[in-house]
Amino acid sequence: MKIKAIIPYPVWVGTRNQLIVKIETDEGIHGWGESGLSGREKAVVGAIEHYREFLVDRDPFAIGALWQEMYRSQYFEGGRVLTAAISAIDIALHDIKGKALGVPVHELLGGKQRDCIPTFATTRGPGLAEMIEQAKDLMARGWDAIRIVPAGHVSSGVYEPRQSIGETAAWCVRLREELGPAVVLGIDYHHRLSVAEAASYCQKMPSGTLDFLEEPIRDETPQAYEALRRMTDIPFAIGEEFASKWQFMPYIERDIHQFNRIDVCNVGGLTEAMKVAGWSEAHYVDMMPHNPLGPICTAATIHFAAAVANFAWLETRSSPAEEAHRFDDAEIFPQKPSLDGAVYRVDDRPGLGVEVDEERVRKQTFKFWEAPHLRRADGSVTNW
Ligand SMILES: [Mg+2]
Repeated sequence: MKIKAIIPYPVWVGTRNQLIVKIETDEGIHGWGESGLSGREKAVVGAIEHYREFLVDRDPFAIGALWQEMYRSQYFEGGRVLTAAISAIDIALHDIKGKALGVPVHELLGGKQRDCIPTFATTRGPGLAEMIEQAKDLMARGWDAIRIVPAGHVSSGVYEPRQSIGETAAWCVRLREELGPAVVLGIDYHHRLSVAEAASYCQKMPSGTLDFLEEPIRDETPQAYEALRRMTDIPFAIGEEFASKWQFMPYIERDIHQFNRIDVCNVGGLTEAMKVAGWSEAHYVDMMPHNPLGPICTAATIHFAAAVANFAWLETRSSPAEEAHRFDDAEIFPQKPSLDGAVYRVDDRPGLGVEVDEERVRKQTFKFWEAPHLRRADGSVTNW
C-alpha cells in the first residue's frame, strides 16, 4: 500500500475552525486526522503541504519511521506548527492501518484497558448561581468530575488578574460547600496568572477545595511551576500546549504536575502521546486529555484513553452545560463518538470509527478567527 494524496481541509464547523486532514492510498483505503493549533490553522496547512511532497508513494504502515522522518528530516527540528501537522498525519495513518487490518485504533496501541472513557464537564456560569445549578445538573446526569472557569472581565477585553482571584476563590469555596466532598472539582485558569497571583489565589481557599488547578501560569519555564509548587498543595493539570515529549520531560521528571492535559492533535499524534503516557505512568501521573476540537480529535483521544493504564478523565465539550458547543455536525460527520451519559463508549469498529462526508466538508469555508487580545486596565498585554 502507498500513500497517494494528503488533503488538508481547514473549515469552520459550529463554533470554531477545524483542520481536518484526509490521507488517501492506492488501495482505496483512506484515513482522517485532525490538527489542533487553533487560531493558526493556515500555518499548519503549509507544513502539511510540505510534508506531502515526500510522503506520497510512501508506506502508510511505517507510522513510527515516518514520524521520525517528519520531525527530524530538517535541520530545525520540532515546534508547534510542525508537530500539529505531524499529529494530523499520524492520526490519519493510524486510521488507515486500523481499517486495513480490520481492527480499531486502540488495538494498534496495545488494546483497550477499559470499556468506557469517563469525562469531565465544564460549567461556564456566567455567575456563581448558574455554575452551582449547572454543576448539580451535571452530577445528577452522572458526572463526578467538574471544571469551572474563573471570574473576570474577559468579554470587555480587559482582564485584571487581581480582580479575578478573590472572587474566583470565593466561588470555589461555595461550590465545594454546595456540591459536597465527593465530586472532583477543578478550574482552568488558562495561564492568565503570575506565580504570585496564582499563589495568592490558592492560599485564599481551604485545603481540599480544589482537586486540580489547570494552567494557572504560562508553561515556558518548569522552574516557575516548581516555585508555585512550593506555595500550594493543589494538584496541577498542565500540558495541553506541549508539542513533544521533550516539553513534557522536565515536568514529568521533576514530579511537578499530577495530571497531563495532553492534546493528541498537537503533541505529535498518537505515536507521541503513547510515549508521554508511558513516561507519565512511571511517575504515577494520570492522563487527562485536552479535547476541544472536532469528532476526529475526540475519536483519536478515546482510542488513546482506552489503551493507557494511567487515565483520569477526558475533556468533553458536549455536556448539557456547554450549550454553545452543542451544534449539529451530523451531516458532516455521519458517524462520530457521542456521549453515553458522562462517558464515551470505546468504539470497536475498524480504524477511528469516524465517517466524514467529504462533499460537505468541501462546501464548508474557513473563517478567520483570532483569540481575544486581552489587556490589563493600564493598557498592557495579558494572556487570553
Ligand atoms: Mg486548559
